[in-house]
Amino acid sequence: MTAIPRVRIAHLPTAVEPMSRLSAHLGGPKLWVKRDDQTGLGFGGNKTRKLEFVLAEALAVGAKTLVTVGGIQSNHCRQTAALAARYGLDCILVLNGTQPEIPTGNLILNELFGAKIVWTTRPERDARLKQVFDEAWAEGKRPFLIPLGASTPTGALGYESAMAEFMQQGVEVDWIVVASSSAGTQAGMALGALRHGFPGKVLGISIDSPEQDLQQAVAHLATEAADRMGEKTVIKPEDILVNADYLGAGYAIMGEPEMEAIRLTARFEGLVLDPVYTGRAMAGMIGLIRQGFFKPTDRVLFWHTGGGPTLFAEPYVKQFAGK
Ligand SMILES: *Cc1c(COP(=O)(O)O)cnc(C)c1O
Repeated sequence: MTAIPRVRIAHLPTAVEPMSRLSAHLGGPKLWVKRDDQTGLGFGGNKTRKLEFVLAEALAVGAKTLVTVGGIQSNHCRQTAALAARYGLDCILVLNGTQPEIPTGNLILNELFGAKIVWTTRPERDARLKQVFDEAWAEGKRPFLIPLGASTPTGALGYESAMAEFMQQGVEVDWIVVASSSAGTQAGMALGALRHGFPGKVLGISIDSPEQDLQQAVAHLATEAADRMGEKTVIKPEDILVNADYLGAGYAIMGEPEMEAIRLTARFEGLVLDPVYTGRAMAGMIGLIRQGFFKPTDRVLFWHTGGGPTLFAEPYVKQFAGK
């Protein structure tokens, strides 16, 4: 196995806590939460684990500017901006959306961390990203391109090692439920589950893709991540568990199920979810509990991936205020 370089910046191990009151309220299986919303970097979240490996790769090639991409309230972009600030690197974020008059949520944080923002539209995003990168290169800024969600084979290793961390914490569970979107988190977990002998199942709640697309993306990335570690493991799409029944009205559109999940988790656990990812994943987990998907004796861990600052972003504050 090849030793993979990594910077150490996340607050690890993240805590594993019982959610006894939510569990009792739902009358379901025993629930736990793993607090990757508390990874420590600029309000934390799952991207910090991936960025530990991706930044090491960037520093190894002499990068001076981190360039990345995402939606208007991207948590990945915010954590990348914080990381760049911490390491004295420049940061350029290519965001799709309309620049608002007053920045809210992650947009305020991006500004505080000193990131430069380039606005674009979703259809033009990839082309604009390439253009921004090429310009930065021509200007001698030594840019390093981090793809969407840091979901590269190297980035996924953050969650391969997170599974080792979880196994060492000694909390035995039958299921891990996690929000899954750009595939890196679930890919790393799938590989880590295999390598470290996790006896349970990892279920990704799809945030924005049909089931088979996400299964394929996760399996492909997990296989590439194994290769990055020097292992010839092949992970197949049918080995990846995905539920895509909770896509709602689309990416980043908060509906009733997400609002209910956010309210219940806050009310019963004092725990904050986000409207885009963890609110949807929790809505999925609650839906599955209500359908009797889990056995009453199952132990189910909700892997919290962060996203808290989005709760204070424009469309969502209004929705919670009933406006
Ligand atoms: C990015 C993100 C996810 C999804 O992780 P992927 O690796 O893209 O699947 C889940 N939750 C939050 C809060 C995120 O920011």
